[in-house]
Amino acid sequence: MPRSGGPTGGTQADVGSGGVDHPALLPDARTSLEAARTVAAGCTACDLFARATQTVFGEGPGHAPLFLLGEQPGDREDVEGHPFVGPAGELLGRALDDAGVRREEAFVSNVVKHFKWKPQGKRRLHERPNAAEIRACRPWLDLELDLVRPEVLVLLGATASAAVLGPAFRLTSGRGSVIEPDGVGPARVATFHPSAVLRARDAEARSTMYASLVADLVTAAARAAPGLPGPGPSAVARRSGSAR
Ligand code: SF4
Repeated sequence: MPRSGGPTGGTQADVGSGGVDHPALLPDARTSLEAARTVAAGCTACDLFARATQTVFGEGPGHAPLFLLGEQPGDREDVEGHPFVGPAGELLGRALDDAGVRREEAFVSNVVKHFKWKPQGKRRLHERPNAAEIRACRPWLDLELDLVRPEVLVLLGATASAAVLGPAFRLTSGRGSVIEPDGVGPARVATFHPSAVLRARDAEARSTMYASLVADLVTAAARAAPGLPGPGPSAVARRSGSAR
């Protein structure tokens, strides 16, 4: 059974809303990840469903020790219906590999489950979800965390970090440290979003951010499952290279 209250183990900023009639609170949604995914497919709790192709629910093992949380699905994820399958997902996969973590051992999801975008010609440009949309989607994240019960929640980027740790949290000063829970819930580690690494101003900045992302994943993995093998020599060699 899902545990009650505070699955992110954090501050007041963690407290979700969404109202008592939110579909994530329906008993039918709370029995398993598959049940939650099925109910979430029909979620209309905020306006974002209207212009997106489909709900992109979290994916991964039912009791993954590592839970990776991004902002929202992107264009590819929206079309394919899976989280982190676009360019950012490819980079995240390499970073996990370099950190000694098999991607299929981690649960991956987003703060918001529908793609928010604005048109630019024929392209759909990512738009950051606002506070109301993040609040509306919060019961789904809380349910995912209730069901998966990870050891560590990795917060990828500023939106996920602010959603869980509060708006005062600064990624620049706070990333890479293990934040232990005050009560129930996972430890938390904030780090760069893979998209931010891809958008770095030049190759040197990209390489530095990528190395930080990998180092933070190593930190998170060590806290989540101390017995994991960690990065191998080839991975370390790649880490000292570029983000590719
Ligand atoms: S973004 Fe979240 S709350 Fe809004 S419609 Fe989609 S699943 Fe529901």
